[in-house]
Amino acid sequence: MRKVFHIKWWHPLAAAVLLAVLALWAQDDARETEAAAPQPVLVIDAGHGGADGGAVAADGTTESGVNLDIALRLEALARFWGIQTVMTRDSEDIAYPDSAASIAAKKVADQHARVGLVNNTPGAVLLSIHQNKYPAASPHGIQVFYGKVSGGQELAEMAQGNLTALLCPDNRRLAAPIGQDIYLMKNVNCPAVLVECGFLSNPGDLANLKTDTYRMKLAAVLLGSYLQYTRGTIT
Ligand SMILES: [Zn+2]
Repeated sequence: MRKVFHIKWWHPLAAAVLLAVLALWAQDDARETEAAAPQPVLVIDAGHGGADGGAVAADGTTESGVNLDIALRLEALARFWGIQTVMTRDSEDIAYPDSAASIAAKKVADQHARVGLVNNTPGAVLLSIHQNKYPAASPHGIQVFYGKVSGGQELAEMAQGNLTALLCPDNRRLAAPIGQDIYLMKNVNCPAVLVECGFLSNPGDLANLKTDTYRMKLAAVLLGSYLQYTRGTIT
């Protein structure tokens, strides 16, 4: 079953996003809008899902569930403000082709389908949501990675700056290029960022990531960053 989040305009975070949008629209924007450029579409990718739960915390919290919850909140906030969105998945169930028998084959089929969806969406800007995990408990914080397509680095640096300033001021992690082993990020032909929202292996990060409030804050800051990035192309 798909969860539905109802966002009211008086929700403090929704109101904060509105104020950010109005402030951005009021700014003098020196960037020229390209006449032929399609309207940007926010493609929200909740990492993993279906047969692939992703990382698992010591208490059993699965990455796929945390990713999906943040993604659905981001979608609800974006739609509330009239921003066009596409989800690569909107539940924990993924329909695999009959030919995909093993878990490995299911993962490959799913990743191919996600790349196809993104690359067939004109104006796509991909925001992929993940959680980190490390053998030691001490690493913590948020880090944003970007793909090779132009624009990704700019969006990643905006998102990293906003997330650090608003959610974890002691965070020293910087936006960085994504490794070559992430199939989705490597194969999409649009600006793309992957956000590691925190470490499931760190008690502080895990406690935050399990709360509705922190998940909503992450969604709000990610939406604000997307708007900051796309403001030059909104007509
Ligand atoms: Zn992941």
